[in-house]
Amino acid sequence: MENGGDAKWRFGAGNPAVQASGRQSLRALVTRVFDCVDRNDPRPVAPLGHGDPSAFACFRTAAAAEEAVAAAALSGKHNRYSSAGGVLEARSAVAAYLSRELPYELSTGDVVVTAGCNHAIEIMMAVLASPGANVLLPRPGYPMYESRAALCGLEFRRFDLLPEKEWEVDLDGVEALADENTVAMVIVNPNNPCGCVYSYDHLAKIAETARKLGIMVISDEVYDHCAFGSKPFVPMGVFGETAPVVTIGGISKRWMVPGWRLGWIAATDPKGVLRDKNVLQSIMSYCAISVDAVTFVQGALPQILANTEKAFFEKAMEVMRSAAEICYRKVEGIGCITCPHKPEGSMFVMVKLDLSCLDGIADDVDFCTKLAREESVVICPGSGLGMKNWLRITFAVDPGLLEDGMERVKSFCQRHGKAKELK
Ligand SMILES: *Cc1c(COP(=O)(O)O)cnc(C)c1O
Repeated sequence: MENGGDAKWRFGAGNPAVQASGRQSLRALVTRVFDCVDRNDPRPVAPLGHGDPSAFACFRTAAAAEEAVAAAALSGKHNRYSSAGGVLEARSAVAAYLSRELPYELSTGDVVVTAGCNHAIEIMMAVLASPGANVLLPRPGYPMYESRAALCGLEFRRFDLLPEKEWEVDLDGVEALADENTVAMVIVNPNNPCGCVYSYDHLAKIAETARKLGIMVISDEVYDHCAFGSKPFVPMGVFGETAPVVTIGGISKRWMVPGWRLGWIAATDPKGVLRDKNVLQSIMSYCAISVDAVTFVQGALPQILANTEKAFFEKAMEVMRSAAEICYRKVEGIGCITCPHKPEGSMFVMVKLDLSCLDGIADDVDFCTKLAREESVVICPGSGLGMKNWLRITFAVDPGLLEDGMERVKSFCQRHGKAKELK
């Protein structure tokens, strides 16, 4: 067969699973909103759409963490390939870090180190994707779960988080959704996108429900300790006796270094159910064919976890608390959006858009697109998280820019507001 002047090429990039997973991508959605910003606007862009505070001086990571990474790089001892699932020192440092708050001790063998928490999500969705299986995911949620499930052909079903109940899990809904093919439910605590923190009692009920259904709980604790309201952070692993828990997390959010790509998966499962069911073995098999976390960041991890001063976390939470306060107060002053629950954790809050008081705005995506174009403020449309006509706002930006950005949201809403009959 010849391919002459008018060459014919046989390939395309038509994997429907990749297209399906891309449709769930939050990053792509926020980028589309960002692209609407008018480059001639002299005002700075207010990036309230995605959660990466590392760009702002007030959220610079701990000196101890930077020193640990620099020392690890300079030592010349961490230039090799990582072992699959992470180097032993890093795994045992994570085991010790998590065990501090559990009623039992984790061992090195209970932990694998991943290239960020997203990698942990990738691994868990792949490991659970046996034919016919399904997982239960929260709505609103963190879309990486849907993307990864779609990519590996794992069916997902969405249960609701209840705004009128401080965004707690609708446990009756979970029971109604589950069937004999359900293998896991995912919770995110402290919660992105809702900004809530689950109480001890609520987590206990989640564990009881999982036990009743015979499923594991995947607890996304990438915001561990990012709690600045009245409720303390309680790890789901505390309830590992009731139902097997896979805890995933990392340093991206608490240390504010998402670019360092370091996360983990831990079997917080004192009864060893996950081991008996070969889940740990399957995770290791996946790690053997996967990318690893960067070796010198793994080499620095024991020092990062051990040497970061309490004062760093306290200050970070103080800044976050006051940013959340600014955001909440500003939302209260804007007529067409309401906040059902004041944020008390993570870096985000969900607010409801009332379209009935706006003119010429079709939905949340339209709102965010026009807002970006007219005011250079980027906010994430709730549809990207499974909640149409809601918005997710991050307050983890420089406080001055946050105030300014929220003022611009207010003028946008006033400009597009319906003329009030009572005037
Ligand atoms: C940011 C985030 C992640 C991803 O964390 P990385 O370590 O940056 O990969 C996972 N889950 C939730 C809920 C997040 O907000």
